[in-house]
Amino acid sequence: MVKIKRIPLGLSNRHIHLTREDLDILYGEGHELTPKKMLVQPGQYAAEEQVSIVGPKVTMENVRVLGPLRPYTQLEISYSDARTLGIRDVPLRLSGDLDNTPGFTIIGPKGRVVKDQGMIVAQRHIHLSREEGEAYNIKDGDIVSVRIKGPRGLVLNNVLCRVGETHKMEMHIDIEEGNAAGAKNNQLALIIDREMEEKMTMAELLEVFNQPPMLGDIPLSEEQEI
Ligand SMILES: [Zn+2]
Repeated sequence: MVKIKRIPLGLSNRHIHLTREDLDILYGEGHELTPKKMLVQPGQYAAEEQVSIVGPKVTMENVRVLGPLRPYTQLEISYSDARTLGIRDVPLRLSGDLDNTPGFTIIGPKGRVVKDQGMIVAQRHIHLSREEGEAYNIKDGDIVSVRIKGPRGLVLNNVLCRVGETHKMEMHIDIEEGNAAGAKNNQLALIIDREMEEKMTMAELLEVFNQPPMLGDIPLSEEQEI
């Protein structure tokens, strides 16, 4: 039997990661984030806290804070959000790679912070634990393509794989990429392995494509978009 490399999708809505220093200003000295929903990646959660982001054109309200706190403040938005905010040329980056990214202003209930950098569109990526990486024969830093099935099915190229102890099997795309493919949270996509597909019989290929696409029929809600 051919090993199929399935990967559950996690769709990210716009969100922000904050430093201790910035949270102190936005929510008051020593404020602790309140977890609202645990995310798939170990230790990561969507917090109850929300902030507003001021762009040249509009102020975007209710931008979710993700915890825990980080050594850098980073705003992750879609290309549509960037257009709405009135900012051109937001770069496609991996988390933490913030040199020469646009700045923005954050407003919280207790104060405001002006950042001179930190706005990115997140590069789509896959998280795998060490064991999952071994099972899929994927190393940290590998670039793969992923097929999303369905009436608006797409192949997503240039997907970076992050493999290690702090990761758990999940592919992160933003809401815009997910919507383009008509995809939902927890939907299973397929990591394309051309070598493997060439070895598969037509019956095996059909079997792969006829399997139910969902892990569970979980509707897309505001909480799950993060
Ligand atoms: Zn991720």
